[in-house]
Amino acid sequence: TGIEELLLSRIRDVADYPEPGVMFKDITPLLADPAAFGALTDALADIAVRNGATKIVGLEARGFILGAPVAIRAGLGFIPVRKAGKLPGATLSQAYDLEYGSAEIEVHAEDLSAGDRVLVVDDVLATGGTAEASLRLIRRAGAETAGVAVLMELGFLGGRGRLEPALQGAPLEAL
Ligand code: IMP
Repeated sequence: TGIEELLLSRIRDVADYPEPGVMFKDITPLLADPAAFGALTDALADIAVRNGATKIVGLEARGFILGAPVAIRAGLGFIPVRKAGKLPGATLSQAYDLEYGSAEIEVHAEDLSAGDRVLVVDDVLATGGTAEASLRLIRRAGAETAGVAVLMELGFLGGRGRLEPALQGAPLEAL
């Protein structure tokens, strides 16, 4: 479709970043193009509305850049999920495994509660570890998930399969 071609044309492949053997998907050309960024925002906001989301969760850091305008466009609140130690209030934390070692993400406990339907927004789904941990946080806060929406899914890493149990039937939509 037209939008897929527009978005793909604004994503730059950077070889051997952040380490040898990795082909990094760089979205900064897309962010610098208001037509492409606007089309992306509209498409993600449409996913939020179609799935009955009541809040947008953005994953640090590029999920903040994409998720904030989506929240405004859809008329929903924006909730940041941050790396451990960055949020000042009372938090829920979730640790998850990386290829080497582990990581931890947090959300303000008061930002999510029963009755919320949360759409998680990020730029890239790779192994799915970060998105899976965010779905655990949402559920532990007592909220429901409306789904996960990303610009790009790196299918060869199998993130969709890893995410599936935590989605509990909610959609993973990759543009
Ligand atoms: P995962 O937890 O392995 O799915 O990794 C996803 C997280 O890493 C997301 O928050 C992405 O922003 C980031 N990420 C992984 N690969 C890329 C990439 O090629 N480009 C941009 N971000 C990436």
